[in-house]
Amino acid sequence: QEAAPVDSSVCSICTQGQNSEVKGESDLVVCSECNKGGHPGCLDLTNEMVTVIKTYPWQCMDCKTCVECMDPYDEDKMMFCDLCDRGYHTFCVGLKSIPTGHWKCKSCKGPETPKPSKSSKTPKSSKSGTGKKRGRPPLK
Ligand SMILES: [Zn+2]
Ligand SMILES: [Zn+2]
Ligand SMILES: [Zn+2]
Ligand SMILES: [Zn+2]
Repeated sequence: QEAAPVDSSVCSICTQGQNSEVKGESDLVVCSECNKGGHPGCLDLTNEMVTVIKTYPWQCMDCKTCVECMDPYDEDKMMFCDLCDRGYHTFCVGLKSIPTGHWKCKSCKGPETPKPSKSSKTPKSSKSGTGKKRGRPPLK
């Protein structure tokens, strides 16, 4: 076939469609930026991740930007959440290097809980401005 326009119903990795027998996957995840699709298996995404990915405008590896600074640069310092696959620079989340093993971003860890200790210092009213940052609003 001639070069087709981006087809989100075809996996950009293995170029098979949804109904292929590839790894038993049937659902493609689709990039919100370039509209390319991919099998979770081809993209190394677990079922759990796919569930989360489908709840927000996911970006593929080509389009991935840091949630914090929204820059696509410094790929070698970018890490990806093991749950939502969002990208974060190590330096944007205060890490010196990419952690080995699993890493979950703060939005997957839940509300900001910097310290597990029950600090009596923090009054309830400090809830304002939790600094929730998202890549971009989920426009439709
Ligand atoms: Zn595929
Ligand atoms: Zn993309
Ligand atoms: Zn960043
Ligand atoms: Zn996450």
